[in-house]
Amino acid sequence: MAAQNPPEKMMFQLSLRRRGISDQTVLRALEEIPRETFVEAADRDQAYRDSALGIACGQTISQPFVVAYMTEQLQLHKDHRVLEIGAGSGYQAAVLSRLCRQVLTIERYRTLADGARVRLEQLGYDNVEVLLGDGLDTATIPGGPFDRIIVTAAVEQIPEALLQRLEPGGILIAPVGPHHGTQTLMRVTRTDAGFERKELVDVRFVPALPGIAREL
Ligand code: SAH
Repeated sequence: MAAQNPPEKMMFQLSLRRRGISDQTVLRALEEIPRETFVEAADRDQAYRDSALGIACGQTISQPFVVAYMTEQLQLHKDHRVLEIGAGSGYQAAVLSRLCRQVLTIERYRTLADGARVRLEQLGYDNVEVLLGDGLDTATIPGGPFDRIIVTAAVEQIPEALLQRLEPGGILIAPVGPHHGTQTLMRVTRTDAGFERKELVDVRFVPALPGIAREL
């Protein structure tokens, strides 16, 4: 069913365009997905503001501009298989799912993984699989190689083993830098010659932490 377009949603689109998001398929995906479903009930009236919001387990749902920007930088194709590390609310995975064949997203908090799975199921986004796990422990990630990998928690460096899960020609995007502070969004492309790295923009993400969370 077509998404309704209340004024706040039109402003949302406009602000993404103004900030430089030009890929129509990305803009359409963000327009279609009800972000209010992914935020805390108390924050529903803020769902279409361009800001990050707190979710369960002390984590955050990223700012829509950052979601759009990272998605655009991934240069997705309909037949891609994508790995996300850091499912959080499931919002980024929902966006990805509209633009590729299959998404596997990993989350270290059971509460978040379960919540994301239920939301994505309810919305009928059935090409997303949410797994409870540690995305930094790459040996435990099933499947792959992946056409695209997106890390949505800050890493001090990109694990080499994760890069090895990329298909030739594949792209990985990750916020790289100190856990508490500003990180740089890095894009790594796997070429015949090796890995090509490009610094994109400064961002702030919650840290990627090892292990499945012991708290729920
Ligand atoms: N992409 C999410 C927001 C990510 S917030 C969204 O659209 O809502 C970062 C998430 O990464 C948090 O939920 C955090 O618990 C998770 N995370 C941190 N380290 C992780 C790890 N090693 N493996 C899997 N998930 C991790």
